[in-house]
Amino acid sequence: KRIITTDFTEEDSRIENSLRPQTLDEYIGQEKVKNTLKIYIEAAKQRNESLDHVLFYGPPGLGKTTLASIIANEMNVNLKITSGPAIEKPGEMAAILNNLQSGDLLFVDEIHRLNRQVEEVLYPAMEDYAIDIMIGKGASARSIRLDLPHFTLVGATTRAGLLTAPLRDRFGVVNKLEFYTPDELKTIIVRSARVLGTDIDEKGASEIASRSRGTPRLANRLLKRVRDFAQVKYDGAITEEVAKFALDLLEVDKLGLDNIDRTILTTMIEKFSGGPVGLDTLAAALGEDSGTIEDVYEPYLIKNGFINRTPRGRVVTESAYYHLGL
Ligand code: ADP
Repeated sequence: KRIITTDFTEEDSRIENSLRPQTLDEYIGQEKVKNTLKIYIEAAKQRNESLDHVLFYGPPGLGKTTLASIIANEMNVNLKITSGPAIEKPGEMAAILNNLQSGDLLFVDEIHRLNRQVEEVLYPAMEDYAIDIMIGKGASARSIRLDLPHFTLVGATTRAGLLTAPLRDRFGVVNKLEFYTPDELKTIIVRSARVLGTDIDEKGASEIASRSRGTPRLANRLLKRVRDFAQVKYDGAITEEVAKFALDLLEVDKLGLDNIDRTILTTMIEKFSGGPVGLDTLAAALGEDSGTIEDVYEPYLIKNGFINRTPRGRVVTESAYYHLGL
């Protein structure tokens, strides 16, 4: 199993909730998003209204779910959590909406994966706080409108472009989450270590931060792994030495690349002279699915300037050769 994945894993489930910040002030980084949210939350509270619907988009593990729970907390309302793939029928969505209380926050993760009919239930719900229900069959079928309490929908998706236009248009607030700087990650790691009751020094935190791919979820997971090494092999405290030792053993390199990333780069270099190589050709050479390469592996390599996308295919950059020592 890949530890460097930024997707939610079984391993995270044991620590993730305990490490979630509860308030906007505890939430590190994403200053632009935080500042706008603060204003909208304050305004909605003053008017005694529910908050406008909010969409968060950005790669996994950057804190979308965390922000949803912080908003619920700051607005002092209940949080209901569901996800696009979990709701299969329009009736299930109608039931969820119908059970909401005034002001409640409904968080829909992976909202781009809602099917069309389920999504259509959301349109009047978001716009007019109502759902249309069909009763009867055939010629006598008619639709009646049920009023809903005013609620806030918070949607999360990895890419805003995956949303249909009618759904996207119904969000009053749309926020893009950015990757975190090493300094921000360091602060998150120090905070998480405190919550976990683990000693860590500045350099130890920096070492983990630099290998965490700009992603808090990964930072927390690596911290947890390093903590195990610190406990078993050292005296429990995380220093630069401990972090380096553990992360090298886990084969997560200085820039957060793992074996798979390095294999992709060396395959491109050795089999295709560095490219350009088409995605499907590369996928076949690696024995991987092209969608997985495109969605999971490639974004970080592109973001860090190891691969360029050109009209003729993918090309390895000079910094990749340099990083691999070739
Ligand atoms: P997403 O929903 O975007 O996939 P999550 O909100 O589940 O990501 O965040 C993953 C983990 O990272 C959680 O344990 C959370 O506590 C931590 N985290 C995310 N963003 C921050 C932040 N800004 N400050 C501190 N911890 C964070």
